[in-house]
Amino acid sequence: MKQANRENINDSARALHALAKLMPKLSSQRTLMDLLQTINHTFGAQLSWVMMEDEAGQQQFVSTGELTCYPTEIKAFLASTLLQRHHQAWRVICWKENSGTLIFPPTHPGHTQLQCGVLYKLSPQHDPCNGYFFLGFTQPQESITVLKEVVVILVEKLKDYLTGLVARERTAKEMQRVITQYKTLFERAPVLMNSFDRHSRCVLWNAECEKVFGWTMAEINAHSDPLALFYPDPEVRRRVRESVNTTPLNDMYEWHPVRRDGVQLTILWSNISLPDGSILNIGLDITARKKAEQQLHMKATTDDLTRCLNRFAILQQIGAALEACRREQADSHFSVMMLDLDFFKQINDKWGHLVGDAALVHFCDCLRALMPPGSALGRVGGEEFLLLLPKTRSDAAVQLSIALRQALSLTPLKVGSRSLTLSFSAGVVEVCGKPRDTSSLLISADKALYDAKRGGRGKTIVAVDYL
Ligand code: GH3
Ligand code: MG
Ligand code: MG
Repeated sequence: MKQANRENINDSARALHALAKLMPKLSSQRTLMDLLQTINHTFGAQLSWVMMEDEAGQQQFVSTGELTCYPTEIKAFLASTLLQRHHQAWRVICWKENSGTLIFPPTHPGHTQLQCGVLYKLSPQHDPCNGYFFLGFTQPQESITVLKEVVVILVEKLKDYLTGLVARERTAKEMQRVITQYKTLFERAPVLMNSFDRHSRCVLWNAECEKVFGWTMAEINAHSDPLALFYPDPEVRRRVRESVNTTPLNDMYEWHPVRRDGVQLTILWSNISLPDGSILNIGLDITARKKAEQQLHMKATTDDLTRCLNRFAILQQIGAALEACRREQADSHFSVMMLDLDFFKQINDKWGHLVGDAALVHFCDCLRALMPPGSALGRVGGEEFLLLLPKTRSDAAVQLSIALRQALSLTPLKVGSRSLTLSFSAGVVEVCGKPRDTSSLLISADKALYDAKRGGRGKTIVAVDYL
C-alpha cells in the first residue's frame, strides 16, 4: 500500500514537472501541429489529436504522433454509441488499456497498439469553442488518475489557444473569401482595371486590359516608359500621368490610347483614389460603340449617292453659321452658294438614270476638289446643292464657281468612249453684318439661282438684296 502511494506521488511530481516545462510553450504563436508534437514529446505520448467545430459547423482536425489517424475514423469514434451513452454528462474519459480497439477499425495498426488514452470534451455550453482533445499511449500508464488531471490542466490552458485559433481561422477564411471575391471581380469583370506607381511602372493589370490592349503586364514594364506604348504624344502622356498620379478624374473621361497593333481606341477612364493613396484606373472600352455611333451619325447626315451632307445636315450647318455670325463681331461673314445642274432631266432622258447618278457624283467630286477647307457641301434636292463657304466674300464664291466650270469642262464625265460635260447655274448670298434667318437666306439664294437660269444658265448670280 505504502509502495503504491509513493509511486503515485512520484508520478504526480513527474507530471507536474513536465506540465511546468510545457506551459510557457503553449502560449506562443505556434501551429497546432507543432503544439501537439511538443505535448507528445513532453509526456512520451504516441498520439494526440484535436477535432474542433466552428459556429458554421466547419470541422478542423489536427493529429500527430507515431500513430496516424484520419478525421473519418475519429468522426466515427466520436459518433459511436460508446460516447453517446455518456451523453452530455462527461468531460474527460480515460481508458487504461485497449483504447485502440474503440477508436480504430481492426485493420488499423492502432487498433492493437494504442493502449492508454484520455479524451477531453470542450462543451459549447461552457467553452467558447466546441471540440475534443485526445492524448494516447502505446504503453499502459502507471497512474491514469494523474494523467487525467494533467490533461484537464493542459486543455484548460490550451482553450485560450484553441479559441484564438478558431477565431483566427474564421478571420483568415473570411479574408480569403473577400480576397477571392475581389480577385474574381478584378480578373473577370468586363471592365479595364489597372494602376501605375509614381515611377510610371504598371502594378495592376487585369485580364480585360490584356485582352483590349494586347499587352501583358510584364511586356509593358519591360518598356522604359510604359505609358508611351499607349499615348505616343508627350503632351497627352503628361495629362494622363497627372490623372493617374496626382489629380484623379472621378468622372468618366474619354481618352484615345493606342492598342498593341496600332489601332486607336476610345476608352472612358475614371481614376479612383484608394485608401492607401494609390490610384486605381477603371475604364470602359467604347471603341465599337463610338464607331457605331459615328456610323449612325454619318448615315443620318450624309447623302447616300454623292457622300456629301444631306439636306438636314447642310441646313443645320448654315443655321449654325448664321448663329455664330450673330454672336461674333460685325465683320464676321460667310457666303452660301446654291448650285443646280442645267438640263439635268435631259441627261437622264438621253443617257439613262445611271449616268445621271454618275453625273451627280462627278459633279460633287469636282466641287470637293476645289472647295476650301472648312466649307461644307450638301445635297438639298435631286440635282440641287448648297455650299457653305465660311469667311468668304461673294466675289471669292463667284471665282470658285468659275473654277468649277473650268474643271467640269476640262474633266468631263466619261461614259464609255463618250464624254459628258456638265453645266450648272448658281446663286450666291454673302452674309455679313446683321444676318436674317435661314429661310430668308435660302429664298435670296434661290432667287439669284433663278436669275442665273433665266439669264441663260451656266452662270453665277450674286443676290444683291442680301448685301
Ligand atoms: P433646269 O436646267 O431648269 O434645272 O432643268 P433640269 O432638267 O435640270 O430641272 P428639272 O427640275 O426639270 O429636272 C431635274 C431632274 O433631276 C428630274 C429628276 O428625274 C432628276 N433627278 C432627281 N434626282 C435624281 C437622282 O438621284 N438621280 C438621277 N439620275 N436623276 C435625278
Ligand atoms: Mg436643274
Ligand atoms: Mg432643280
